[in-house]
Amino acid sequence: MAQQEEVFKKIVSHCKEYGFVFPSSDIYDGLGAVYDYGQNGVELKNNIKQYWWQSMVLLHENIVGIDAAIFMHPTTWKASGHVDAFNDPLIDNRDSKKRYRADVLIEDQIAKYDDKIEKEVEKAAKRFKDQFNEEQYRATSPKVLELVEKRDALHKRFQEVMNAEGGIDLEGMKQIILDEEIVCPISGTRNWTDVRQFNLMFKTEMGAAAEGASTIYLRPETAQGIFVNYLNVQKTGRMKLPFGIAQIGKAFRNEIVARQFIFRMREFEQMEMQFFIKPGTELDWFAKWKETRMRWHQNLGFGAENYRFHDHDKLAHYANAATDIEFHMPFGFKEVEGIHSRTNFDLGQHAKYSGKKIEYFDPETNESYTPYVIETSIGVDRMFLSIMCHSYEEQQLPDGQTRTVLHLPAALAPVKLAVFPLTKKDGMPEKAQEIINDLRFHFNCKYEEKDQIGKRYRRMDAIGCPYCVTVDQQTLVDNTVTLRDRDTMEQRRVAISELRGIIEDKVSITSLLKNLL
Ligand code: ATP
Repeated sequence: MAQQEEVFKKIVSHCKEYGFVFPSSDIYDGLGAVYDYGQNGVELKNNIKQYWWQSMVLLHENIVGIDAAIFMHPTTWKASGHVDAFNDPLIDNRDSKKRYRADVLIEDQIAKYDDKIEKEVEKAAKRFKDQFNEEQYRATSPKVLELVEKRDALHKRFQEVMNAEGGIDLEGMKQIILDEEIVCPISGTRNWTDVRQFNLMFKTEMGAAAEGASTIYLRPETAQGIFVNYLNVQKTGRMKLPFGIAQIGKAFRNEIVARQFIFRMREFEQMEMQFFIKPGTELDWFAKWKETRMRWHQNLGFGAENYRFHDHDKLAHYANAATDIEFHMPFGFKEVEGIHSRTNFDLGQHAKYSGKKIEYFDPETNESYTPYVIETSIGVDRMFLSIMCHSYEEQQLPDGQTRTVLHLPAALAPVKLAVFPLTKKDGMPEKAQEIINDLRFHFNCKYEEKDQIGKRYRRMDAIGCPYCVTVDQQTLVDNTVTLRDRDTMEQRRVAISELRGIIEDKVSITSLLKNLL
């Protein structure tokens, strides 16, 4: 684990050093859990968004997109339940003045028991070597059994307070923190305040105060922009059920504990699709969207073993099925996307609060009803992070050197082709520019003439550029160049006229989309 943390730290610094992700307002020492995307990051992010958007809107005739405003009528959030229930339980330590999520403190404590159990097992494995029978040890070691009992009891108590009648039992939560003797990691003390609910929505004012300014919220999810536009899109697009509405946009949550770089941010971006269906068909559609979304992820070639579903046992009162797609990050399997069967809850609530009839007239059965919804909801930034984590490698080369390379899927790479003149003489730079001028309309190209070729290759490896081309003396004679592959580092001689044909197919989003059909 410690090694994985080390790798994660390196990925975070790599993101900054190579223009992928910077802390927001960096010259003022950053702003908590807010980040900016740099010159390479924005290209990668745009490519991720394109891959998602096209897989939804181009590949499905019955899915259309919208782009709703971030500000919405405040009643939206009353209807959706966010004003009353989009809360996290928080607790402060009076000595360090640090604020924590009470549920996270308890989850960390459970994880500590798990760690202790694993350490016991590892120690025994070392001690008994070949004689070690892990199953038997886990079932009989008094130390392990005692830790498992404590862990399970804590887990049970935690479940009880989280699922108490009428919402989370805040006093019960504090009692657990006291009983478990959980200390503040900064002050080391147990001087805790009571646990309080904290609403995660950011508020602001619209209009000048004199005119009667009203409180509005920065949207905490993009989904509601889709629900409130259901009628507009269904009518103007003459959409027939089943159909979907897709949207990519910013969302804002005042996360109490923002951790792990761009995994949990206060301003982030979501790609959400609400699929409107006939009531009664939701479990079939839920299964279908689970499969479709998992294929989309696995299509990037990171290996099926790095993904898993985490089906929810506890469902929100309006949902009748929910799962997360988790990806193997350096800090464990973590949610990247949620897929939820939300029944007719949201449309029903908006109908109630707006007084509008939000229904679908089914021409096949001649009846009107409120459609059910399957939602797929993925965070662009978490997707970005998972791609970075999986692509980053410090590779040992046969000559004893190491190179840092990002094995980004070629279709997502910020720069697809780098063109280098071997030297700055004999018309090589001009020839290199000529190649770029020809290819720049088809994919993102970069020109580099500084430093030795080896160094230029390394710089391109570090930003995940899949192909490099070098213009040399021979080019000037026969119009051929060396084409170098990022992953294999192999170089081959090809005619300039062939470059587009060789590269374009491999680096286009279409190449990814074709596998999804
Ligand atoms: P978590 O349990 O990690 O807080 P969530 O279940 O609240 O996430 P959803 O409300 O289902 O998340 O949001 C859908 C997706 O939006 C998540 O799968 C994730 O990719 C992304 N997302 C949610 N919150 C954040 C955040 N604070 N920073 C970055 N991405 C986020």
